Amino acid sequence: KALEVATPKRTKEIIAKYGFSFKKSLGQNFLIDQNILHKIVAAAGLDKTKGALEIGPGIGALTQHLAAEAAKVTAVEIDARLIPILRDVLAQESHVEVVHGDVLKLDLKQLFEEKFADVSKVSVVANLPYYVTTPILMKLLEEKLPLENIVVMIQKEVAERMAAKPGGKEYGSLSVAVQFYCEPQIVCLVPHTVFIPQPNVDSAVIKLALRDKPPVDVPDEAHFFRIVQASFAQRRKTLANNLTALVGKERREELTQLLNGCEIDPVRRGETLSLEEFARISRAFLEAGW
Ligand code: SAM
Repeated sequence: KALEVATPKRTKEIIAKYGFSFKKSLGQNFLIDQNILHKIVAAAGLDKTKGALEIGPGIGALTQHLAAEAAKVTAVEIDARLIPILRDVLAQESHVEVVHGDVLKLDLKQLFEEKFADVSKVSVVANLPYYVTTPILMKLLEEKLPLENIVVMIQKEVAERMAAKPGGKEYGSLSVAVQFYCEPQIVCLVPHTVFIPQPNVDSAVIKLALRDKPPVDVPDEAHFFRIVQASFAQRRKTLANNLTALVGKERREELTQLLNGCEIDPVRRGETLSLEEFARISRAFLEAGW
């Protein structure tokens, strides 16, 4: 069995051996804690019929653990300097494939068809680069990839916003977007001491279990998300004020009536609305031809 990468000693050895230097601009903070890795992999619920897509394998700390659990692992890494290191570290793992590329630019549908044709289900499992967490997750969700779940290490505040319920200051358009597609659950909080180098922020592992269908009845998804975005545009404004920006001042009175018809008080703020209430507004707008 290959040596564990994720210990302080082994990680430092690998870095020294290959003369690797960290690039802050690529969000490179490598995990050096076996316990956290076990928690991440356990949360994904992998087995030898399933596949894992890893984004940003670094020097392979998490990749090794995924290889031990899954039938197939595909790991996408943007930094060309890491590719030969990964090929060495993972040399004994014939069911692991390293792909050099930017996950934001890859055709993921095609990648899935090529790499995961023979597995029953696929998880995305990653210690994500924090500078692109939201674009990566939104890409995975909006492309409607055939995923069972996504288990990722991200900045703690972002995890809390994704899992937030209506009424609090963390709740916003990111919460609605994530909860429309998934059931979020924070797996654990993670101190910055388990990384080399240590990041300046606290981290959390979040599990997003993909829903079979959205939890609310939305005839037009793009329209629903336009309503959500507009409702949070200026957080201190009322719902009626924020939505007026969408329909025009001349329709202010009609808008108030429409919201009342939905049994939603126009003076409420966006941050108090549930997904069901946003869906109700979207349906009423569509009926009004807005
Ligand atoms: N998985 C490793 C670990 O846990 O030790 C490394 C995690 S590190 C936080 C993030 C990794 O993502 C880095 O290896 C970085 O080079 C890579 N990365 C950054 N942007 C990326 C992108 N757009 N596409 C693919 N990989 C990226």
